[in-house]
Amino acid sequence: MKLGIFGGTFNPVHLGHLLIAEDAAEAFKLDRVVFVPSATPPHKRPRVLAPAAHRVRMVKLAIQGNSRFTCSDIEVRRGGPSYSVETLRHLRAAMPRAQFYFIIGTDSLRELHRWKEAPDLVKLCEFICLTRPGERVARCRLRGARVRRLTGHPTDVSSTDIRNRLARGATIRYLVPDAVRRYIERHRLYR
Ligand code: ATP
Repeated sequence: MKLGIFGGTFNPVHLGHLLIAEDAAEAFKLDRVVFVPSATPPHKRPRVLAPAAHRVRMVKLAIQGNSRFTCSDIEVRRGGPSYSVETLRHLRAAMPRAQFYFIIGTDSLRELHRWKEAPDLVKLCEFICLTRPGERVARCRLRGARVRRLTGHPTDVSSTDIRNRLARGATIRYLVPDAVRRYIERHRLYR
């Protein structure tokens, strides 16, 4: 069993995330990709952070219909700062025979050496690093990290852009799945 782990704030989830996950699953023949929304992201402080329960529900709506994708609320249930090393340990204990691939963007890869217990984390999984359009290939400063590169579909979508658009009343149609757009409208998120 090859398992992709896709951690993020998903504030909110968008088409860029879905494309990365699909590209990674195809390129590395992953059986599953588990989206893991973080409770409190330890590495960034967005000005507006939707409650975790909303972020989880949006991910679940976004991945509906894709049998390879699942969502885990393990970090949200744990609460507090979300450390990937703890999540990986938990998942490995539950699935000791699985091979784990942690999907991250270049911005995260560059910072990996600062993550909690990073030397232990790199023993638990390989990394699939996706380069965003216009980005230079990131160097990972962490010794022992097994990094595989992936140039998937170039998408310049970010959660920051979506939040900014919502704040000024601009459209987010086609940047997020329609079910997510409707959810955001219904709950008046990011206004
Ligand atoms: P924000 O704009 O709030 O910083 P984000 O759009 O980067 O958020 P995250 O939830 O932080 O979304 O993303 C999770 C992971 O997905 C990160 O490693 C990030 O680099 C990566 N990612 C997000 N959007 C894209 C994209 N369009 N192309 C490639 N990687 C992306």
